[in-house]
Amino acid sequence: MRDVPVLEPYPAQAEIVLGGACDLSCSYCFVDHRGPEAADPTAIERAVERVLELPRRELTFTFTLLEPFTRAGLWMRLVERILSGADKRGKSVQIVATTNGLRLDRRLRRFLEGARSRVRLNVSLDGAPASHDLHRRGALHAGSFRQAWENVRQLPPGELRAVYTATPDRLDRLAADLGFIAGLGLRRIDVFPDAFAPWTAARLRQLGSVLSPLLGAASAASEAMEWRLLNRLWGPTHHGKVLIDADGSFYLYEWARLLPPGRRARYRLGDARRVDWSRRLKLHETLLGALASRGWFKRERGLRRLAWPTPLLLRHGRSGPALEDALRRYGRLAELMVGLASGAPPQVLSASDRARLQAGFARPQPAP
Ligand code: SF4
Repeated sequence: MRDVPVLEPYPAQAEIVLGGACDLSCSYCFVDHRGPEAADPTAIERAVERVLELPRRELTFTFTLLEPFTRAGLWMRLVERILSGADKRGKSVQIVATTNGLRLDRRLRRFLEGARSRVRLNVSLDGAPASHDLHRRGALHAGSFRQAWENVRQLPPGELRAVYTATPDRLDRLAADLGFIAGLGLRRIDVFPDAFAPWTAARLRQLGSVLSPLLGAASAASEAMEWRLLNRLWGPTHHGKVLIDADGSFYLYEWARLLPPGRRARYRLGDARRVDWSRRLKLHETLLGALASRGWFKRERGLRRLAWPTPLLLRHGRSGPALEDALRRYGRLAELMVGLASGAPPQVLSASDRARLQAGFARPQPAP
């Protein structure tokens, strides 16, 4: 557990959601699209200022849930505000946005080119059009590849990172889909096995057999390609990251956006006028205490170590067969990821992710 970070009262990262809107309804989307519908720009800007004032030299702001470019004007204003606020305070900031590509118009592309060194752009691409459109669909179930790629291709491909969601039903096409994305000129590809999907043992073996040679060859091709295996559920960015919702409210972690507004409220920390950062630790420990008492993990240094699949807890509740089943399934996925990473160059899986996976499910405690 040596490399697993510990939750601290002050967040180093903030996920900002600009409203409930997304122009797609992907079948694997795990974000709750409900409320607040309209963004409150003043409240969000105040919340951003509040984060910039925290006693941290390095901060990350992300826009990776829902579609940030449905509020493109507000997004650009916020980015400028974050960058100027950080410069004024002598802080280093990183900004990351993930988009479905549908609204990447000329104005946005110009802005992104100007901010290129300080904003990292991820684009969700699921391979060839037929694979992409299987899950990434919009109104009236229309596929989205054509429109997304029409916009994305106008940006320099070397500066984009593709995020590919691996699902059990498309494994036959996985290698071809990843080859297709590389063929588009994108050299950085994140592979995210959908951690909420019902992976069977056979499907996991199939996933491993496709990814293993690809990731193993990554060192030879490292100049040309950068592959990463994403452990989204408890990756280094996902517990230490506070959520700023569209009304400017702070929540425990970004995963609060998995929940409908009523349940989300349980994890509210306040807003820019009054926020209780110490409540982060209390809520985190309460949430995880249930798991520790059921024997899923060892209790080490309290419960502040971030080696827990908290999104599963949020989604399935703190106990019950659905949670136990989800934990077991995720445990098998975690073991596969550690196995895949062990034969691959280190950058494929971050050291912190590797430690979390090994600390948790690679050596699971027996369920009572
Ligand atoms: S584009 Fe992203 S936020 Fe929108 S529905 Fe798809 S997965 Fe969800």
